[in-house]
Amino acid sequence: MEKVRIFDTTLRDGEQSPGCSMSTAEKLVMAKQLARLGVDTIEAGFANSSGEDFESIRMIGQEVEGPMIVSLARARKDDIDRSAEALQGATNWGIHTFIASSPLHMKHKLQMDPGEVLKAAVKAVEHAKQYTSNVEFSAEDASRSEPTFLVELFSAAVKAGATILNIPDTVGYTMPDEIYQLVARLKNEVYQSDQVMFSVHCHNDLGMAVANSLAALRAGARQVECTVNGIGERAGNAALEEIVMSLATRQQYYNLTCNVIGEQIYPSSRLLSQITGASVQPNKAIVGANAFAHEAGIHQDGVLKNALTYEIMTPQSVGIQENNLVLGKHSGRHALANRLESRGFYLNEEELNEVFEKFKHLADRKKQIFDEDLDVIVTQGVRQQQDDYILDSLTVSSGTHMIPTATVGMIIHGERIKKAAFGDGPVDAALNTIKEITNIDCRLIAYSVKSITGGTDAQGKVSVTIEKDGMRITGRGADTDIVTASALAFINSINRLSRMP
Ligand SMILES: [Zn+2]
Repeated sequence: MEKVRIFDTTLRDGEQSPGCSMSTAEKLVMAKQLARLGVDTIEAGFANSSGEDFESIRMIGQEVEGPMIVSLARARKDDIDRSAEALQGATNWGIHTFIASSPLHMKHKLQMDPGEVLKAAVKAVEHAKQYTSNVEFSAEDASRSEPTFLVELFSAAVKAGATILNIPDTVGYTMPDEIYQLVARLKNEVYQSDQVMFSVHCHNDLGMAVANSLAALRAGARQVECTVNGIGERAGNAALEEIVMSLATRQQYYNLTCNVIGEQIYPSSRLLSQITGASVQPNKAIVGANAFAHEAGIHQDGVLKNALTYEIMTPQSVGIQENNLVLGKHSGRHALANRLESRGFYLNEEELNEVFEKFKHLADRKKQIFDEDLDVIVTQGVRQQQDDYILDSLTVSSGTHMIPTATVGMIIHGERIKKAAFGDGPVDAALNTIKEITNIDCRLIAYSVKSITGGTDAQGKVSVTIEKDGMRITGRGADTDIVTASALAFINSINRLSRMP
């Protein structure tokens, strides 16, 4: 069976989607999980887009072993130089350079004619090749480009030294039959096409990203660019888990395999949604809460008699564990560490000590600690490590015959500040006080509370969306006290806002 390379762009294209921005520390945690998942390539960012992106790529290049680490670069010398600078010293790395090739993009976006685009592409590939032997070249908006021009452009890129040719359906426009034909034609006509690997990068605007990616593989592409949970610009990118499980479940049909470890799919999905705060829709294939739930009585009966009656794959094969083992006050460090690993969190000694401390603290207030509680403890910890704004203390008084008042203590860039303010309710009072202390002028546009698990001692999970200068940022917080959870969520959104370039 031939191998397919899984090129993960969760940290680059995925991170570009609204509400999915991640800090450097968060990206590093996610990149380590992607390595465990077994992806072949991690596109860690776009080095020349911001200082923080540069730093994330550099750190991932230094610290993550296994996958090839790649930075995106426009077909420009400065982009390529920055990419190489970020990744020099990494053991296994490459550069992914691109330029648009459709008439629409060339004319209106680049204001270049096809001849100029061709020259820029060749120059970029040659320049990247001086730094690394792993050079991927993408023709942006390939699905709306003239196929004859694509043949010319890709042939020139091969001559200049590109090792991977990527065909992006940038706007999610193509259909499976069309991309099949395009890949087949390019494989036929591009110069020395048997010496290079063809890749696809599909967007989901018409819900075709996965179908198109699979069609391209059938036509001979051997790399797919995808993201965990299908996050990405607009309607998202092709979902990694759907591609991988399609290949695995229909192995005889595709006769292709890949290096991804199925059991790491669910932990990766959970980790990403914990980090970004973007939850997965319940009916999402493979990783949605209902993906393996059988509601209809006749189905349940069938599954009990033989799982294969209504299940084409098992929940265990994607890492969903049946035993929802509950931890409590008396659970030890070892049990906690084991449980965390099954959720995708591999902590070092120091981190484990810190999480264990918080776990004990929560167990004092809550009888049973569920997996979802653990997710929150860990990701809240990762976040706070590099936060500029930290909640130090919170006291709220409210009731039927008084004006709700909050006193909030915060640590801002290491300095302690305390203030009090009123509000229409305890949450409003707390948020008003935080706004006054931080002096950040933003508009609260969405607020929601959900309980993480059942029971009145459950942790409340609060999600807050704020807007400033047209930019929307979502923050999350969780605690057994919903006012505290609200304050944490609001402060989280402020921290995210302050890290924006
Ligand atoms: Zn994209």
